[in-house]
Amino acid sequence: MDIADEIKRRLSMDEVVRRYGFEPNRAGNILCPFHHEKTPSLKVYAEPGRGWHCFGCDKGGSVIDFVMHLFNIPFSAALVRLNADFQLGLSAGGRPDPRELARLKRERAEQDEARAAYERGYTDRCRRRREMWERLKAMGADDPDRSGVERTLAAMDDWFDRNPYCRERGEQH
Ligand SMILES: [Zn+2]
Repeated sequence: MDIADEIKRRLSMDEVVRRYGFEPNRAGNILCPFHHEKTPSLKVYAEPGRGWHCFGCDKGGSVIDFVMHLFNIPFSAALVRLNADFQLGLSAGGRPDPRELARLKRERAEQDEARAAYERGYTDRCRRRREMWERLKAMGADDPDRSGVERTLAAMDDWFDRNPYCRERGEQH
């Protein structure tokens, strides 16, 4: 969904006209700002996404069209204006910034690589840890190598504990 669709989905015509100083009457009409009239004939539709239509001058459209006509600004500026005035938090400008897209793509590639490296090391580390456990179990309590094996196991556990993917996936090891 692009930013224009998102704006049309999130803003009702009613709240947009009120934000810019219009008060719809009981029939849901306002005085048309695009032609001179004494009786309100610009219909503000209540249904989301339906927009407006003036039965006097036949102009009509979406919330974006209304803001374009009202402030005499182009489409992209209307998106920026609605985004700011209603604090929608959408990326400004109406289309994504290519530099921002490139940065996100790079960031994702780095994450994928980190995860792949972790996956590659994970199976191997699990196997080595099992082997170390077997060795420890087979040892007598006074085996001179025992403390060394325990230290190795502790270091292995530390690697598992520190690894963000390990925690994220809630893996047992
Ligand atoms: Zn009109």
